[in-house]
Amino acid sequence: MLGIINLVYLLSAIGFIGGIKLMAAPSSARNGNIISAVAMSIAIVATAVLIILNEGHLENIFLLAALLLIGTLIGKRLSVKYEMTRMPELISLFNAFGGLCALIIGINETIINQLSVDQSIIKIVLLLGVFLGGASFSGSIIAFYKLAGKMKFNYRSKALTGLMWLITIGLPIWHIMLPESSLHFSAIAVIVGAASLCYGVLFALPVGGADMPVLISVLNAVTGIATAISGILFDSTIMLLGGILVGSTGILLTIQMCKAMNRSLKKVLLGQTATGLGNKGASETEQQIQTISTAETASILAFSKHIAIIPGFGMAVSQAQKECFELQKRLQGLGATVKYIIHPVAGRMPGHMNVLLAEANIDYNDIVEMEEVNHNMAQFDAAIIIGANDVVNPAAETDEDSVVYGMPIIKAYQAKQVIVMKRGMSAGYSGATNPLFERGNCKLLFGDAKKSLNQIIEEVKMI
Ligand code: NDP
Repeated sequence: MLGIINLVYLLSAIGFIGGIKLMAAPSSARNGNIISAVAMSIAIVATAVLIILNEGHLENIFLLAALLLIGTLIGKRLSVKYEMTRMPELISLFNAFGGLCALIIGINETIINQLSVDQSIIKIVLLLGVFLGGASFSGSIIAFYKLAGKMKFNYRSKALTGLMWLITIGLPIWHIMLPESSLHFSAIAVIVGAASLCYGVLFALPVGGADMPVLISVLNAVTGIATAISGILFDSTIMLLGGILVGSTGILLTIQMCKAMNRSLKKVLLGQTATGLGNKGASETEQQIQTISTAETASILAFSKHIAIIPGFGMAVSQAQKECFELQKRLQGLGATVKYIIHPVAGRMPGHMNVLLAEANIDYNDIVEMEEVNHNMAQFDAAIIIGANDVVNPAAETDEDSVVYGMPIIKAYQAKQVIVMKRGMSAGYSGATNPLFERGNCKLLFGDAKKSLNQIIEEVKMI
């Protein structure tokens, strides 16, 4: 029977991987999601059967069913409540729950299993799971509050972080060297768990502003590794596989994010990404800006040969992707070439802009990554920035004190004419003031992106 269960687990794993593969394209993503959910349900049923076979009684099945029902109801409510632009917050919450699970499982195992002196390897694996689970739980909760804008301060304490490392590494070494010491192993697991919770908070607190995508991907990876460790402890193939999938994709994403943000992976892992401690720049109200109307924008675009569209978080808020496509078609009809330039951290989740543009059926050939065009931005007669701010902020190149300093940006400022669509003078996610708005070749078109685009389309139709 165990062989059949393992076969079912294998099929579930194939379902997860196939589902993830389908999620790579918006047209097949929905099916990918359904396949992964079905694979997960099959794995849960197989686990329930395994419990009945192993234990021979049904109480735990009722408990499992009740917990599943509660979890499903909470998950459903959260996914309905959170709109697309708040997805990273939801992901942080899911990460937190995954970490909490690993923490509880690890501590529970140390209490119910009396591990003997010569089981040091198992003890180390257990403590590693407890540490990673606890750190990813508390770190993800801090990330959640930061993403929701409910926690705006950044704080770093090297002394406290060092103390947490000392407890987490020193205590287990002491226990293994002196197994006869009076402190029981489960007490050590509880202390390491508490230290990991503090460490998670200390790890996430200094990170802020534009570095948040790196933090989210690191925590995602850590949750996956903690789950994989729980899989080893429980001898559960499916848990191990799920953990490895989340952990490895999280690590790949972290590497990509570090590259996109020009941050060192080592510094990220040591919790030293804290550019959020830097200066945000002059207040927006002090900036000398030039504004532009939709009619003027339409006439500039209509007479431009090469046009760059740079979307950002504001386009997602306004859901203006279809209007972008409509404008693109009109401008192409007038003989212009139009390219969308995407920054890897534009929006609020990796690939956010690609998903939105694909949803509007924008041809993939019209979308370019920033590295492909940054050396040649001066070729564009007009760059129209739709709700982007941090990803085009030249302070990242010039102002060492800025919170965004060092982050690669789309060099929109090099285009002959830059038009920025936004509602007011609010800063972007990082809070940094954007000196682009004061440049001689830059004009601001105030208003909701969708409304402004619709008006521009009407004006272009009349040209
Ligand atoms: P930003 O957050 O820098 O700026 C968005 C701009 O859009 C704001 O200035 C806002 O100004 C404007 N805006 C908001 N709503 C509308 C609307 N309805 N119509 C028109 N404009 C609007 O976005 P970017 O995409 O440039 O940068 C992304 C930032 O988010 C980076 O700092 C990145 O590090 C961070 N981040 C990214 C994640 C990812 O994985 N991609 C995850 C977490 C954070 P106003 O209110 O005045 O209109």
